[in-house]
Amino acid sequence: MTTPQPFIIAGTSIAPGAQADVAFPITTMATGTTSSLAVRVIHGARPGPAVFVSAAIHGDEIIGTAIIQRLAQALEAGALAGTVLLVPVANIFGFISHSRYLPDRRDLNRSFPGSAGGSLAGQLAHIFYREVVARCQLGIDIHSAAIHRYNLPQIRIMAGNRKLVELAMAFGAPVIIESPLRDGSLRDLAQKHGVEMLLMEAGEALRFDRLSIETGVEGVTRVLAHLGMIEADDGLSAVGIPARANRTTWVRSPRGGVMQATCTSGDPVRKGDVLAMVAGLFGEEAEALVSPVDGIIIGHATLPVVHQGDALFHIAAIDHPERVGARIDSITEAILASEPQGSAQGMLDEDEVV
Ligand SMILES: [Zn+2]
Repeated sequence: MTTPQPFIIAGTSIAPGAQADVAFPITTMATGTTSSLAVRVIHGARPGPAVFVSAAIHGDEIIGTAIIQRLAQALEAGALAGTVLLVPVANIFGFISHSRYLPDRRDLNRSFPGSAGGSLAGQLAHIFYREVVARCQLGIDIHSAAIHRYNLPQIRIMAGNRKLVELAMAFGAPVIIESPLRDGSLRDLAQKHGVEMLLMEAGEALRFDRLSIETGVEGVTRVLAHLGMIEADDGLSAVGIPARANRTTWVRSPRGGVMQATCTSGDPVRKGDVLAMVAGLFGEEAEALVSPVDGIIIGHATLPVVHQGDALFHIAAIDHPERVGARIDSITEAILASEPQGSAQGMLDEDEVV
């Protein structure tokens, strides 16, 4: 067995079995204050792979921040094989202004690889990539839906990669979506350099909900167990097999008005099923939104005030929607019936669980 070596990052040497918080200076703001990217490194007592977990690359998508806070409490360097790097807030600028973007209006997730002499987004992308992503063999990047939208907890992976399918299965979110990678995205760059990535989508921007947080904590934990980094059952038998889809479709409002939804994320639907009615201000001339496919609703708009053409439901085409829907119900019930864990209890608002 290889002798464990210290992990050196930002000039700090972290001994096997120890952890440290490091900060990378990014920029000086207009007001003269400096901003830095915070990373916790948990360096296992035994050798193993390096894995990062990152959140809020879109600054208002904060579900992952709550997930990482819980992982930070749960993971112990002494019991770990390999190294875990936690980045609770990647887009530090959007996070404080509750915005998806950076102050220069750029999208961090379209700014990779970036460069040291580039724009603010480019500098942040460059440091995050060089210091965190490139040091790891696997990354789990956590996103949520945009503001006024909700996503069923789901894992997105690039199509046609068996290793990623295996890891996504281990994560055990209700649905796995296989899709092409976007140019300039973190996943695109990571893949080109041999870093495997799982992207989790869950919940709503600027909100916490218990289903998303617990699915994330349990999912990351199961992946680490599956990789042999922690001593735990990877729990695959208990969560069952996630549904897989490679085709998703948005259903848009046929008119402007006020929406009354009859379905929500996690529901199985058949082609032609009514998802919602959209009527005028007096409730007149209601028009139905119907599902164009058999599948599972993986995201929905939470704001009932809609314009014609607004995307209101996101559906993954799946062959046996009722069977998958029943499994999602049982996952949801099991999570909501369990005791909330630790200090996060006070942060959770069950009314937001959809
Ligand atoms: Zn996002």
